[in-house]
Amino acid sequence: MGQTETEEISLIEINNLAKQVFSKFGCDADNANALAKTVSTAERDGSLSHGLFRVPGYVASLKSGKVNGKAQPSIEQSLESVITVDGKMGYAPFSLEKGLPVLAEAASKSGIAVMRLINSFHFAALWPETEFLAEKNLTGIACTVYKPTVAPAGAKKPFFGTNPMSFAWPRPGKNPVVFDMATSTLALGDVQIAARDGHSVPHGTGLGPDGNPSDDPNEILKGVLLPFGGYKGSAISLMIELFSAGLTSDNFSYEAAEKDNNDGGPPKGGELVIAISPELVAGGGWVSHSEKFLEKLEGLDGLRMPGERRHKNRLNKGPRSINKELLSKIRNFL
Ligand code: NDP
Repeated sequence: MGQTETEEISLIEINNLAKQVFSKFGCDADNANALAKTVSTAERDGSLSHGLFRVPGYVASLKSGKVNGKAQPSIEQSLESVITVDGKMGYAPFSLEKGLPVLAEAASKSGIAVMRLINSFHFAALWPETEFLAEKNLTGIACTVYKPTVAPAGAKKPFFGTNPMSFAWPRPGKNPVVFDMATSTLALGDVQIAARDGHSVPHGTGLGPDGNPSDDPNEILKGVLLPFGGYKGSAISLMIELFSAGLTSDNFSYEAAEKDNNDGGPPKGGELVIAISPELVAGGGWVSHSEKFLEKLEGLDGLRMPGERRHKNRLNKGPRSINKELLSKIRNFL
């Protein structure tokens, strides 16, 4: 068993620590605040692979100069329902903070709107994007690419990124239904955490460098991850490449890798966010209709709704247990 000692630290301390580190390595207040919020809300919700765990990668990409910590994104609305946010080579969170309200307003007027986020670096979970839309009574889908880490079904070489996708459906007065998932069997961060903590991963997660299935995360990190659900997950990952790169005209995963400096931070890539107004598309009865369906679903024995674990974690305002080695690495940045 590897290093799993933890330290209790409050969410405010997590936010402050992340903010201090990002500021020290060149982020302006807008970007440091948006990034620290991304990190601390991930820890709040128990999205461990996208909280403090990502700070060393953010620092590496600021140090190498790949990402502009002072980027001020610009927004263009070429059609009423097409919004382009140019991240100006900064991290995604501040661009999203600026762009999502514009997207929500456009979808609330037109019924559907799409946001292309370009020239940006995404290293986080995607539920904040879709939950933001659901809070505005919109349903949404967000997706992005990464670098080749996943072998498409039938292949043994990496070509797709871990290509996450999030979906949220609004439930006025309740938490939305949200799923947010990598299209690899496990997110890369979770495989890295399993390697760090000395745990094995389920068979089917990936192949070792010899092309054979393995449950050793260290072997898989030298080899390749697999898509979830065989050719079906592979097809969804293909769609995400085309949505996130084909529709944004930013990098496909393979292009991101060709241009990346491999500093350990996120590669440059596009994100596509689609927002739809159930009120304008389905009409006034959408809440009672979808609620009846969701209540029946929730009533099934043994079922747990996606998003439920995170929303439950969110209610806990207490400190979080953070890996000690990680904390000391982050504190040593200051
Ligand atoms: P998980 O497999 O842990 O969970 C995927 C989804 O399924 C979640 O919405 C989760 O809800 C839900 N879920 C989990 N278990 C159950 C269950 N038993 N019944 C019903 N629903 C369930 O996530 P992944 O490992 O695939 O992804 C982790 C994160 O990594 C995501 O946030 C993703 O955005 C991020 N990521 C980001 C990348 C980037 O480049 N920016 C790349 C790849 C991944 P709940 O949250 O409540 O557990």
